[in-house]
Amino acid sequence: MSTQRLFNFSAGPAVLPPSVLEQAQRELLALPGVGMSILEISHRSKAFEAILAKTEADVRTLGGVPDGYKVLFLQGGASLQFSMVPMNLLAAGTTADYIVTGAWSQKAVKEAQRVGTVHVAGSTEAEAFVRVPRQDELSLTAGASYVHFTTNNTIFGTQWTVEPEVGEAPLVADTSSDMFSRPIDVSKYGLIYAGAQKNLGPSGVTLVIIREDLLARSQKSMHSMLSYATHAGNQSMYNTPPCFGIYLMGLVMQWALAQGGLTAIGAVNDRKAATLYAEIDRTGFYRGTAQKDSRSKMNITFRLPSEELEAKFAKESTAAGFDGLKGHRSVGGMRASVYNAFPEEGVEALVQFMKEFERQNG
Ligand SMILES: *Cc1c(COP(=O)(O)O)cnc(C)c1O
Repeated sequence: MSTQRLFNFSAGPAVLPPSVLEQAQRELLALPGVGMSILEISHRSKAFEAILAKTEADVRTLGGVPDGYKVLFLQGGASLQFSMVPMNLLAAGTTADYIVTGAWSQKAVKEAQRVGTVHVAGSTEAEAFVRVPRQDELSLTAGASYVHFTTNNTIFGTQWTVEPEVGEAPLVADTSSDMFSRPIDVSKYGLIYAGAQKNLGPSGVTLVIIREDLLARSQKSMHSMLSYATHAGNQSMYNTPPCFGIYLMGLVMQWALAQGGLTAIGAVNDRKAATLYAEIDRTGFYRGTAQKDSRSKMNITFRLPSEELEAKFAKESTAAGFDGLKGHRSVGGMRASVYNAFPEEGVEALVQFMKEFERQNG
């Protein structure tokens, strides 16, 4: 069986650094000094407590997480956060503002509406989500319990370049598909969440960073597992945490720090995205689907002149060793997801493939 690695453009679960996979492979039978696998040890063991503490410390260092914030490792994906955010933070008689920039924001709205009053404070749905709203298009509620937005829209290939200005209300962000892809000022946020499987590790663990004063909003009557206060009060160990996912996220954090941290990672991501968009814009054969000022550096979406050519592109790119370039089933077209661990050689190789495909079919 071949262990040749393809260029993996999957939107998630997604590519991980080979050095991380190799370390996990080396350590799978027995963690150094422990003599048992990460898959076998108690989450109450000293060994796992050390892994959890180191992963949290490295998340804090990499993200520059200030004091006054809790770092939580939860389960249920970003999708459970769509529910936990309003269940914990949306008090009766108040309103939560949601900025709607794609399918994931819409799902977040749907769950919040089950809990309380939601005001859509901005939406680009009428333009098929080809951009994120401008600040002057937002209609924020005075005294909103929080403002929720999606930093990067994985399906539509758009991304905010700066956070919306929301005044006093805590800013809540779904950062699942661009977490730690560039420097982040955590102090601007009340709560940040991300499913790990795009930039942070494997699926099964969800990173939540929450400002400590917001924990007081979790009502005592809540189901324990759905309460941020429970998880914060128990250092993410109220129940059995996703041990392997936390371990692997820890290795990814160490890798990211070794790259030089978020400034260095952001520079590489800028370069990868610029290279791909330059090819998309070169002749007009390819057409970027996102408006230029909203283009994502993580999920680069584009179309070809016809659906027939898109099908051909998908087929031939797969045969050439590129995986996962087909766009989301809801929007069609092509999508190249180039998360942190996606190598620059893979971007160069795709550009060469695109040039050759255009030469033959243009
Ligand atoms: C992938 C994704 C989700 C869904 O994450 P799950 O962990 O599968 O629940 C939510 N929001 C965004 C922006 C995503 O990219």
